[in-house]
Amino acid sequence: TNLVFTGLETTIFETMSRLANEHGAVNLGQGFPDVDGPEDVRRVAAEAFISGPNQYPPMLGLPELRQAVADSASRFYGLDVDWKSEVMVTSGATEALADCLLALMEPGDEVILIEPLYDCYLPMVRRTGGIPVRVRVTPPTWSLDLEALEKAFTENTKAILINNPMNPAGKVFTEAELARIAELCVEYDVFAICDEVYEHLLFDGVKHRPLMSFPGMRERTVRIGSAGKTFSFTGWKVGYVTGAAKLLDPIAKAHQYVTFTTPPGLQKAVAYGLQKDDSYFTGLAADLQAKRDFFAAGLEELGFGVLPCEGTYFLTCDVAPLGIKGTDVDICRRMVTEAGVAAVPVSAFYITDAPPNYVRFCFCKRDEVLSEALDRLRAWL
Ligand code: PMP
Ligand code: GLN
Repeated sequence: TNLVFTGLETTIFETMSRLANEHGAVNLGQGFPDVDGPEDVRRVAAEAFISGPNQYPPMLGLPELRQAVADSASRFYGLDVDWKSEVMVTSGATEALADCLLALMEPGDEVILIEPLYDCYLPMVRRTGGIPVRVRVTPPTWSLDLEALEKAFTENTKAILINNPMNPAGKVFTEAELARIAELCVEYDVFAICDEVYEHLLFDGVKHRPLMSFPGMRERTVRIGSAGKTFSFTGWKVGYVTGAAKLLDPIAKAHQYVTFTTPPGLQKAVAYGLQKDDSYFTGLAADLQAKRDFFAAGLEELGFGVLPCEGTYFLTCDVAPLGIKGTDVDICRRMVTEAGVAAVPVSAFYITDAPPNYVRFCFCKRDEVLSEALDRLRAWL
């Protein structure tokens, strides 16, 4: 039969969320906040859904959102972006990633991926015929292996896909790491796809620095953002891509055939949201930082080896000190079924040869939910 499909697998987020539901577990697996984002932003969306427009908006996105994305690039990073030719709206960062790969890759092109990697990168790269070449950031510090990075760049390298701030590691790439990546991109004439969905979720005064802002990178970088993360509306699936017109142009052609557009009411609301004053953005990060601190302290007390986390929704932990037999997958399975707490095994973010002793907890939850998870883990351990 021809009807055999083996190319794509169920994602770890789907698997763990299903198990969490089945077992009535506190779901700290899949990354989503349990409190919705700003009410005024939701009101703008609600109003737009009532008064319209409700038909296909422009293929590249509503001008007001594209302008807001360009203005944010200037406001937060001093990047000068032409909203007309250099910004496109997508249905989530996931669509943006798919568009970029569909447009920019040819079968046989090598793409550098940094492990641990976000789950959709590998299947997307493979399905577009790209050849993944991996480099790692290594726990417990999650620092980038620069020697391996240099070796990964060859004549055949077409692109590097980098997620900064990084899921699941909670890592923010250092200035030196980014500078080296940029130098290599320029030297080997490689372009960069930068998944920066967590750009506003940084802690301890760490500042986000887009790879696009490094010397020689403006013309060879596409930068992806997500309103899901910036406004705590992960279900909205509104993303945006920024890049030089000669890169954005083919990406927009791919977008035509993937979704063509994104709901206009949501675009209007996100355009409004991006114009919020700085206190919104710093407040969002400060709230998350407090949650990280609370949950990290609780986990440490229980004996988890909590790794540093400078941004994102996620804390990674070494489970070896707990002395439980089995891999991260076994432990996550037991945690969800026996303790009633869902986490994600970090090995799911590796192509092969993953370290077997790290798990990821999502901490963007109400304090009482985090407390409940800690209580359940305490009772279980
Ligand atoms: N990239 C990373 C690193 C993510 O963690 C996520 C998680 N949602 C996405 C992309 C997808 O973003 P969106 O929901 O906007 O498609
Ligand atoms: N980005 C979310 C996470 O890392 C998951 C999104 C999804 O389920 N595809 O947990």
